[in-house]
Amino acid sequence: MANSKYEYVKDFEVEDNLMPHTWIVIRIDGRGFTKFSQAHRFQKPNDMDALLLMNAAAVTVVEDMADVVFAYGVSDEYSFVLRKTSTLYQRRASKLISVVCSLFASSYVMNWSKFFPNTTLQCAPAFDGRAVCYPSESILRDYLSWRQVDCHINNQYNTCFWNLVGSGKSTAEAQNILKGTTADVKNNILFDTFNINYNDLPQIFRKGSSIYRKKVERVVKVEDVSGREIKRLKSCVVVEHEDIIRESFWTNNPHILG
Ligand code: ATP
Ligand code: ATP
Ligand code: MG
Ligand code: MG
Ligand code: MG
Ligand code: MG
Ligand code: MG
Repeated sequence: MANSKYEYVKDFEVEDNLMPHTWIVIRIDGRGFTKFSQAHRFQKPNDMDALLLMNAAAVTVVEDMADVVFAYGVSDEYSFVLRKTSTLYQRRASKLISVVCSLFASSYVMNWSKFFPNTTLQCAPAFDGRAVCYPSESILRDYLSWRQVDCHINNQYNTCFWNLVGSGKSTAEAQNILKGTTADVKNNILFDTFNINYNDLPQIFRKGSSIYRKKVERVVKVEDVSGREIKRLKSCVVVEHEDIIRESFWTNNPHILG
């Protein structure tokens, strides 16, 4: 490229390469989704279609970006974990965050009508993003555990809150009833007043969604003479709702962070 006298403006750019050999987590969060969820009549506290749409957008990101080895989502947020050795965009934070956010948002819009066939999208959804580096597998797992605990705490509170509101309490009354209550008290309110066993709620509400690659046996073709099925191991992206705090999830899937 020919130099011009304007070239010097490049010097104003700041370097934002993330620390090498650390796990990069890019967490995105829907902008103003309290309003967005009302405008599109999401069911409270958990609209299943809205969660499935978030998952579809996240699958696009995981499938598109080979360096994303794991993603965890709840409510209007998603965390994407990039492998430690990734050199994508020279690990430049602004590039990584902006590509993840825009890919996610465009896929969210592209998939909207699949999950909300009878609801017109009223406005262009946006997602903010941040990047954080975690230096060890154990801290990275603590990060993911933190998000899954948050999912549980919010879900338990919101399930109580919206059932109280549904039973005729005002939002202020419901808030007051739940103020300072322990998990046990909330479970009892759900069970005694609303006949809801918290553990019977769908796993996706209680545990959030995890996306990762898994080797799955697939029938590649059926032999025509003997009719025998030929199976091959194929890597595919799966969406699960497991407990990722437990050790067993990671020992059963050592390839994810390996
Ligand atoms: P900000 O822009 O600061 O993130 P926000 O309004 O998006 O503001 P959050 O703390 O991110 O605030 O909360 C997300 C909001 O979106 C909550 O009000 C939550 O109830 C709602 N929401 C997200 N997903 C769903 C869903 N699947 N079903 C119902 N409501 C949802
Ligand atoms: P990167 O991901 O690194 O940005 P890139 O292929 O997008 O790679 P750019 O330097 O951004 O590289 O170049 C943009 C490309 O898109 C060029 O090849 C340009 O010719 C093409 N392009 C962009 N807008 C138009 C347009 N309106 N008409 C035709 N071509 C376009
Ligand atoms: Mg936010
Ligand atoms: Mg939000
Ligand atoms: Mg949020
Ligand atoms: Mg360009
Ligand atoms: Mg370009």
